Amino acid sequence: MKINKNFIDKKATLYLVSTPIGNLEDITLRAVNTLKSVDLIFCEDTRVSLKLLNHLEIKKKIYSYHEHNKIKQGKLIIEALKENKNVAILSDAGMPVISDPGYEIVKEALALDFSVVPLPGANAALTALIASGIAPNSFTFFGFLDSKESKKRKQLASLKDCRHTLIFYESVHRIKNTLEIMYEVFKERDAVIARELTKKFEEFTFGKLSELAQNIQQLKGELVLIVSASDSEELLSFDISIKEHIETFIEIGEKTNEAIKKVAKLRRISKQEAYNEYHNLKK
Ligand code: SAM
Repeated sequence: MKINKNFIDKKATLYLVSTPIGNLEDITLRAVNTLKSVDLIFCEDTRVSLKLLNHLEIKKKIYSYHEHNKIKQGKLIIEALKENKNVAILSDAGMPVISDPGYEIVKEALALDFSVVPLPGANAALTALIASGIAPNSFTFFGFLDSKESKKRKQLASLKDCRHTLIFYESVHRIKNTLEIMYEVFKERDAVIARELTKKFEEFTFGKLSELAQNIQQLKGELVLIVSASDSEELLSFDISIKEHIETFIEIGEKTNEAIKKVAKLRRISKQEAYNEYHNLKK
């Protein structure tokens, strides 16, 4: 076991700095101050981050750190930390590490006992989720599905029975095909396409998977796809009898007593009434 107390440890620090996903006003004050104070900044695409730094009037040399040079550049980051320099890493947009480079360097820095300090900020997945109107209580963030159709199908099949809201990153070129396969694999579910978040043409499209698959035309920009959990409608439905409702919970793996408790709570009836209905007991 190991505890890193980032507020006490006076070690060189790797800062993970979240940046805006479109609207430059979404940078935090702390991110600005950190970018001003660190010794070195590593970023995914130097042209993209240079624009942000110019906007923030931060004049500093920046170094690239991306998927294809992360091993070589990772060594430079570790050398800098060993020389007691503080380093920030940024991705083009949003949180580093989340469907973006950074995971390996975080692991290495932690293994070498450097401090790793995350700076919260914009993230496309959560920004989409909170405005989607789809249950946020528990969710699985999947990120990008494989671009090959056969692999995509397998990945979706593995998520079919997941009881969580699902969050995907997807490109505008693949979204139609992905929605079509989702409808085949998941059947009907609620879904939301959150496009161009925080930008001028921000747009949310709400619908059933089948509707979206049929009607979506060529889109532009960036998007997040949110899909409701398996069977969520059925579990929340009051159009079935109390007994059927309890059986639905049991079918998805709930113990009988738990299923009775849940249905009683959902329908605002007593546990005794739900129990009686389930066991066909006379009132
Ligand atoms: N690290 C980023 C984050 O924290 O959200 C995600 C980076 S990932 C390489 C880029 C994907 O995030 C895009 O393809 C899109 O699916 C999603 N994305 C990023 N910015 C977005 C925006 N403004 N609106 C909608 N989706 C966005």
